[in-house]
Amino acid sequence: MSHLTIPATLIPGDGIGPEIVDATVAVLDALHAPFQWDIKKAGLAGLKESGDPLPPETIESIRRTGLALKGPLETPVGGGYRSSNVRLREEFHLYANVRPALTLVPGGRYENIDLVTIRENTEGLYVGFEHYIPIDGDPHAVAIGSGVNTRAGCRRIAEFAFEYALQHGRRKVTIVHKANILKALTGLFRETANDVAKRYEGRVQSDERIVDACAMQLVLNPWQFDVIVTTNLFGDILSDEIAGLVGGLGMAPGANIGENVAIFEAVHGSAPDIAGKGIANPLALLLASAMMLSHVGCHDIAGRLREAIGMTLNQDGVRTRDLGGSASTREFANALIRRIP
Ligand code: NAD
Repeated sequence: MSHLTIPATLIPGDGIGPEIVDATVAVLDALHAPFQWDIKKAGLAGLKESGDPLPPETIESIRRTGLALKGPLETPVGGGYRSSNVRLREEFHLYANVRPALTLVPGGRYENIDLVTIRENTEGLYVGFEHYIPIDGDPHAVAIGSGVNTRAGCRRIAEFAFEYALQHGRRKVTIVHKANILKALTGLFRETANDVAKRYEGRVQSDERIVDACAMQLVLNPWQFDVIVTTNLFGDILSDEIAGLVGGLGMAPGANIGENVAIFEAVHGSAPDIAGKGIANPLALLLASAMMLSHVGCHDIAGRLREAIGMTLNQDGVRTRDLGGSASTREFANALIRRIP
């Protein structure tokens, strides 16, 4: 066992969060992963404990550790609360959302998918500059929304994507935009990302697609893509489409990365319909924890975790119900632990 320990914040979250976090931590313990957890609340659990879905002590913990593994968080309905996930992205300038999609269970609609979406996480149409104009007594007669992209933000996400491609041995980055219509907003993204691409010529290939064509080509021939980099809204939509190519959100991990902080999570939500039943699939969070291990340089442990997941799913045939199996969350984790050398 390594003597190195890495402080990290652990947020169990809401709904199925504590169940999949327990399973994931048990697997990480079996792998002797070096994380020293500081357990903190957020979401509904945070609201109940300290009256805030993103309590100050949770923010302080993440600021101190710079690293977090997080279960899904529910945004309380009513009361004017903003999404804790959006607040975390803003608080820590988590500008890059990284979502890999890899075929883990053969026999689905598509075989051998291995794609990564890199979505700009802080700009674009998500800045929330929206308002209504009332006309003739209709308060919502006209709705106006503006997006904001900056040269610096576009350059930062494009550089992140090309560096990611280099570091992960990827061959190509596809720049996805809608510059034929949103000429300023996504034209700036296209122009800046293509400038960045020139600096990587000979090391990483690049090409570009208009987002609607990209969406169709992902269905017709997803294998032509490798890394996709795009703006906030397009990235949100395309990364869900891409998760669908490998069996849905239950298999989709995500990382939110900034200069000083990285937060890893499952892409799915708190699944209130199955919370407390012990049947949730912990795979997305386990895959997120593998990303977290790679992020801190524990490539060997991450590799062993990914290998054990493949063997548990495909050689042992142990799967949770959403994947057509019958294993509970804990049974899946125990089977996985047995596969860890
Ligand atoms: P959801 O992802 O929680 O659930 C959608 C469907 O997928 C449900 O039928 C659920 O049972 C199933 N599902 C999700 N994860 C699963 C898993 N690991 N194993 C098996 N089945 C799984 O989406 P929702 O119902 O729209 O959202 C519920 C709550 O989660 C909302 O409050 C939402 O705001 C929140 N949410 C949080 C995050 C996050 O924290 N990153 C992301 C999305 C939604």
